[in-house]
Amino acid sequence: MWDVLVAGAGPAGALAALVLAQAGRRVLLIDEIQSNAHKVGESLPGAARQILQSLDLLATVESGSHLPCYGNVSAWGSDQLISHDFIGDPRGLGWHLDRVQFDEELRSAALRAGAVWWRNRVKAVTWMNPTWRICLKECEVHSSWLIDATGRAASLARSQRVIRQRDMPLFASYRWGVSADDDTETRTFIEAVPNGWWYTARLPHHIRVIIFHTDAKEATQIRRKPDFWDVYLEDTQYLRQGLGQMTYIDSPQLIAAGGGCLDSVAGSHWIATGDAALTFDPISSQGIFNALYTGMAAGKAVHAALIGDLSAVDAYVDRLKAIRAAYRRHHDFIYRSENRWADKPFWALRQRSLV
Ligand SMILES: Cc1cc2nc3c(=O)[nH]c(=O)nc-3n(C[C@H](O)[C@H](O)[C@H](O)COP(=O)(O)OP(=O)(O)OC[C@H]3O[C@@H](n4cnc5c(N)ncnc54)[C@H](O)[C@@H]3O)c2cc1C
Repeated sequence: MWDVLVAGAGPAGALAALVLAQAGRRVLLIDEIQSNAHKVGESLPGAARQILQSLDLLATVESGSHLPCYGNVSAWGSDQLISHDFIGDPRGLGWHLDRVQFDEELRSAALRAGAVWWRNRVKAVTWMNPTWRICLKECEVHSSWLIDATGRAASLARSQRVIRQRDMPLFASYRWGVSADDDTETRTFIEAVPNGWWYTARLPHHIRVIIFHTDAKEATQIRRKPDFWDVYLEDTQYLRQGLGQMTYIDSPQLIAAGGGCLDSVAGSHWIATGDAALTFDPISSQGIFNALYTGMAAGKAVHAALIGDLSAVDAYVDRLKAIRAAYRRHHDFIYRSENRWADKPFWALRQRSLV
């Protein structure tokens, strides 16, 4: 019998498990973790330092192979390249993460604190008053509380009939490459184009990620005929030149990347965190930060609930509503600052308000 079962061991699940284990709770973390060489989502802003520091994780991240990110260069809203550096940011520099290593670092911290990790998958959950019965592959366990940290799938919350609201559709088509020897760029590069926007960052180990964010029509074309990715890349004014002599190590992969949220982020004896609760358009660069923040907050709220203080869960729900409202305002502001192609479907859709 466990106090808390955390489904999903990405950043949100790992931090929830860490906080609960530090508080002396019996925590079971469940995730199969596919051993991919890369995981998409790698820019972490300097604002995350405070959270990492508060959990004694900053030194671990700083001694990892992650690269410091010194700023952004973007062609957004005009043909001019605008540089924004982070050196004067009082919160400190962010990182271009080795994402697989970063997730491992957080998971290891949770295990050191006493959480237990099983490589397994949650298949179904049933409330059997006063505990949950959780079916895994080939076995079942019981737990007082559940934390849904399953990412965009939000599989536990959705099994409780909670609906995920989706904002406008957005697809990301990404590729990894080995960066050129003379590629020493430390900044993130963003370029808006008539049918979406591109993003590239140099990552540790001479790897570069290149992502095209677009709508369903272009995404479908790339899925049917991957060469379209290169055709769209040719349309960029700056980005394709900046890549230099890059060697791709895979063909384009496609993933849903739009923002959204659950109708309810908590219910009786369960709580959702990270992407399972709120997802963000990658232009916000907010996903990992939110996973860290809400993972930590969900862990604290469940610990409080276990000692009878349910107001902590209500406060968590209110906090996530405030984060969602701020995100929507920010989303509107960013997309409305690009109006060179207001007649094109991708941008016309984004001139509409999310608020
Ligand atoms: C194209 C793209 C680019 C992005 N770029 C950035 C970026 O630059 N910066 C940034 O901050 N964010 C970015 N993000 C978002 C960021 O990757 C996510 O916000 C972040 O990974 C969320 O962490 P999480 O722990 O909530 O979920 P995840 O990291 O998705 O982890 C969820 C875990 O749950 C597990 N799981 C799923 N179902 C089950 C189940 N039934 N049982 C057990 N385990 C299960 C999965 O195996 C997975 O390990 C990007 C996202 C996309 C799509």
